[in-house]
Amino acid sequence: MKLTERQKEIIEIVKQNEPITSQEIAERLGLTRAALRPDLSILTMAKILDAKPRVGYYFVKEPGAVGKLEKLLEMKIEDLQSHPVVVQESSSVYNAIVTLFLEDVGTLFVSDKEGYLVGVVSRKDLLKVTIGEADIQKLPVSVVMSRMPNIIVTKPEETFYTALRKLVDYKVDALPVVVEEEVNGQTRLKVVGRFSKTTLANVLASHLSEL
Ligand code: ADP
Repeated sequence: MKLTERQKEIIEIVKQNEPITSQEIAERLGLTRAALRPDLSILTMAKILDAKPRVGYYFVKEPGAVGKLEKLLEMKIEDLQSHPVVVQESSSVYNAIVTLFLEDVGTLFVSDKEGYLVGVVSRKDLLKVTIGEADIQKLPVSVVMSRMPNIIVTKPEETFYTALRKLVDYKVDALPVVVEEEVNGQTRLKVVGRFSKTTLANVLASHLSEL
């Protein structure tokens, strides 16, 4: 956000005199309170200033490294998730392996015809079946996948820390991000994203560089 000269001046006045009322800020700038109001609204909405009723305006200090880390851990999965890669349960193992390469992921989510989550297939699930005698052009992924209801999922409103714990505690590489839908009285899961160890590494790399 680009601040105007007057907004910068207001911030300086608040920094040096906090808490300070809008009347006092207006006087220092030779303005009326009404003329100052739009700038004060912008600065409070941008969380640069904070107003306490009957006390005045404060400058909002930048959180330190610990504060930033705490914020990161509380971030919502919907703001961090990556694109999900989904194959249908009738897809062949061969097709799943090709998808793994084309999409450059390590885990595929598996859906039924209606697009609801039925399972997850990992690199090793696919490797295991290819070292056997199976005809991977014909064999459907549904035979080799881990299936519902034993799939560990996360949700858009869950926190980064909750999802991170699930990856570690359940020793899996990826979680489907799902939303619940009621279908004929049953709760089904729609895949809307992916939270994987790669997503985790990317989020950490970009946020830690800002500490
Ligand atoms: P890999 O097997 O390639 O090392 P994972 O560690 O993620 O990858 O998978 C280990 C096993 O857990 C596999 O059999 C896989 O099907 C299963 N799995 C992977 N992700 C999940 C998940 N989110 N929920 C349940 N099971 C999963």
